[in-house]
Parts: sequence; structure tokens; C-alpha cells
Amino acid sequence: MGFELSKTESDQAVYTAILDFGFGDLILNLMEIDPGWIGHKVRWLYGWYFGTIAIVVLAVGLGLVSLWHGAWQQVRLARQKDDFISAVSHELRTPLTSIRMYAEMLEKGWVRSGEKQGRYHGSIRQESERLSRLIENVLDFSRIQRGRKRYHFTLGDINTAVSQVVEMMRPYASQHGFAIQTDLGSLAPTTFDKDAVTQIVVNLLDNAVKFARSSQDKTIIVRTKAQDGYNLIEVEDHGPGVPHAERRRIFEEFYRVEAESTRQTTGTGLGLALVQRFALAHQGFVRVTEAKPQGAIFTVGLSLQMG
Ligand code: ADP
Repeated sequence: MGFELSKTESDQAVYTAILDFGFGDLILNLMEIDPGWIGHKVRWLYGWYFGTIAIVVLAVGLGLVSLWHGAWQQVRLARQKDDFISAVSHELRTPLTSIRMYAEMLEKGWVRSGEKQGRYHGSIRQESERLSRLIENVLDFSRIQRGRKRYHFTLGDINTAVSQVVEMMRPYASQHGFAIQTDLGSLAPTTFDKDAVTQIVVNLLDNAVKFARSSQDKTIIVRTKAQDGYNLIEVEDHGPGVPHAERRRIFEEFYRVEAESTRQTTGTGLGLALVQRFALAHQGFVRVTEAKPQGAIFTVGLSLQMG
């Protein structure tokens, strides 16, 4: 039913009333409305009703998905942190046990042969170096997380920095049967953070020794070259390589390819995350590709435009 107020009676009115307000008559025409219009109006109301319900359901759904995603991320992070803490404790315990054992044997005079004494002293030094590398990684990671990492960029020769690390790591590598070859290209003096570059190469060599341990070919090649606006540092090993699907994720912090329970190697999952952060601090990158016939080539690019 609709209505209309007018001065005249309408032909379509089903009921007419004359209203007298004292200042002239006003005619109220009550009219029947087109049923099609009512149907249209009802459909429109239905549309609104279901539309509103759909939007509410969608919003609640999205909220639930994002809550679930957040909770899942938290659980994953908590698990990774647990793994990390147990990995760090394990990594600390192993060299400390060796150091204590060798030191005790030497202290008590149980080792008579001069050659053996030299070897044990060497082991103590190497195990302490391994401890320092681990602690350095953890401290650097914590500094980066808290935004406290400061870089000291100076002009220098990357090849000198790389060679120093290679010489430092050579005894450790050869103790595990590895030979390190170098192929250092000619690089112009560049601005870089020496400690960061040292840690990049240390971590890459440490990984090569760790993951290619059971391979036939135990050569590690360290290359440098200038290419497309970057100084490249490459470390190539001939171990198992990195599966295609993992080539991005290995650079995430705490991420390690194997499950914690089946893992053959020790580590904290911080090494490559730090390598990537240090490369980014030099406006650079890190990537991993396949070596021939097998193995991994880690390439770090440091921008020539630094400073
Ligand atoms: P960690 O060495 O402590 O496990 P990293 O961040 O250095 O942590 O490395 C992450 C993962 O990447 C390793 O757990 C390993 O699975 C893989 N990876 C790193 N370097 C190599 C390599 N040279 N060959 C094969 N896999 C590697």
C-alpha cells in the first residue's frame, strides 16, 4: 500500500479520504502498489541481507586465518629457537670436552711423544677457534637482531682479507682431509667491512668442510672476481650440494635442511643467515648454485659502489 496527498482524488486510489485541517481540504489517496515492485524490493532486501552476512563471514574467516597463521608462525619460531638452544649447547659442549681432555692429558704428563704433544696443542687451538667462530656468529646475530650491529667500512683489498681467512682455515680443513685451492682474480681496492668479509668466508668454508665431509672429492675452491658491478667471492665444494627446493630457505635464520632428529652434522642454522645479512650490508647478495659434477657453489656479491 502507498499513499499520496493531493488536492484532487486519484483514479487509481482504492480508498480516498478528505482531510479537513481548517485551511482547505487535503485529499489522501491510498493506492495499491505494483506487486512486481514489492517482489523487487524483497529481492533487494534479501540481497542486502545475504551480502552483509557474506561480508561478516568473510571478515571472520580472514581473521581466523590470520590468527592461525600468526599462531603457526609463533609455534615454528618457538620450535626453531628450542632447536637453536640445543644446537648451541651441543656445539659448545663438543669443543669444550675435547679441550678439557687434551689439556688434562698434557697437564698430567700422559703424553710423552713430542709429536703427539704438538698435535694435541694444535687440537686445543683448533677447537678454541671453532668455539670463537660459534660465539662470534651468535653475538653478531644478536647484535643484528637488536639493531646494534655497526659496520666499519674501509678501503682495502678483498683478496688480502680472503687469503688471510683461507690460511687461517687451512689447518682445520686439512685435518678433515680437505685441500683448499684459491683462484683470486684482480680486484680494484674497494670499500668493505673486513670483519664481515672474514666471517662470510669463514662460514662458507666451515660449511664446505662440514657438509662435503663424506664426499670423494675433497677439494674446496675459493675464487674472487669482479663482475657486473660486484666483487664476487665464491666457495665451491664437491659434497652433496643443496636441493633446489631449499636454495632460498637455507638463508633463513635457524633454518637447516635436515630434521633435528635425523641430523648428522652440527650447527646452529645461523651461518648462512649472517652471510646474507653481511652481503646485504654491502649492497650485495648471496646465492647458491650447483657445482659440476656435484656440490655447491656459494657466491657472495659485494657492491663496487660502496662508500
Ligand atoms: P648450519 O651450518 O649451522 O646448519 P647454515 O645457516 O650455515 O647453518 O646452513 C644452513 C643449511 O644449509 C645447513 O644446515 C645445510 O643443510 C645447508 N648447507 C649449507 N652449506 C652447505 C654446503 N656447502 N653443502 C650442502 N648443504 C649446505
